[in-house]
Amino acid sequence: MKSYILGHSRLKLPIMAYEFGSAGPRVLLIGGVHGDESEGVVAAQALLGVFSQSTLPNLQITLIPMFNIDGVLACRRTNSAGVDLNRNLPTKDWSPEIATERYHPGPYANSEPENQALTGWLTTHAPRLIISLHSWKPLLNTNGDCLRVAEAIARHTGYPIQPSIGYPTPGCLGTYTGLERGIPTLTYEIERQLSPDKIVATHVPAIIEGLQVMATTSPA
Ligand SMILES: [Zn+2]
Repeated sequence: MKSYILGHSRLKLPIMAYEFGSAGPRVLLIGGVHGDESEGVVAAQALLGVFSQSTLPNLQITLIPMFNIDGVLACRRTNSAGVDLNRNLPTKDWSPEIATERYHPGPYANSEPENQALTGWLTTHAPRLIISLHSWKPLLNTNGDCLRVAEAIARHTGYPIQPSIGYPTPGCLGTYTGLERGIPTLTYEIERQLSPDKIVATHVPAIIEGLQVMATTSPA
């Protein structure tokens, strides 16, 4: 395992990244984009524990458990500048319009240091799949071709698979990577307020099954 600082938050806190495996397709797992969605952080932290014990063969995994570290520590959706990091990415549909403070897109696209660190990492690492761990209603939102991964997770969880989340999300990661950069992106919405025990028992093995689809079907 290799760990490093991906970048720094608005509050200058380090955003940690962990890498596992040395061969096979690269996958990015990201938790805590929305700091008040602790379910995704629990899943990401649990995966950090699992991969620290044993890695999956034929897969290079990068795990960022607490991307919006300022928001996670303050239990708030946005970063410490009040920007929704999942509305601030430099997509073609990014808009400065503030629908509500909850979805604040920032003063300009990619204005936030967290997203600058992520977009920089993406250009140099070119992952083949991204799984972004959120919480809301049970849902697997696919952007780009990640249906087989989603199906493996759905078999384990019973979660529905949808190519759209049901409302506009300008500047979001699914659009930025999944639709505009050819990196299939699965936004994994864990049921809100699910206990850590159940997240570990159900969603961690589900994610591992999804990853195994990548490890067994993609050429290295
Ligand atoms: Zn979210």
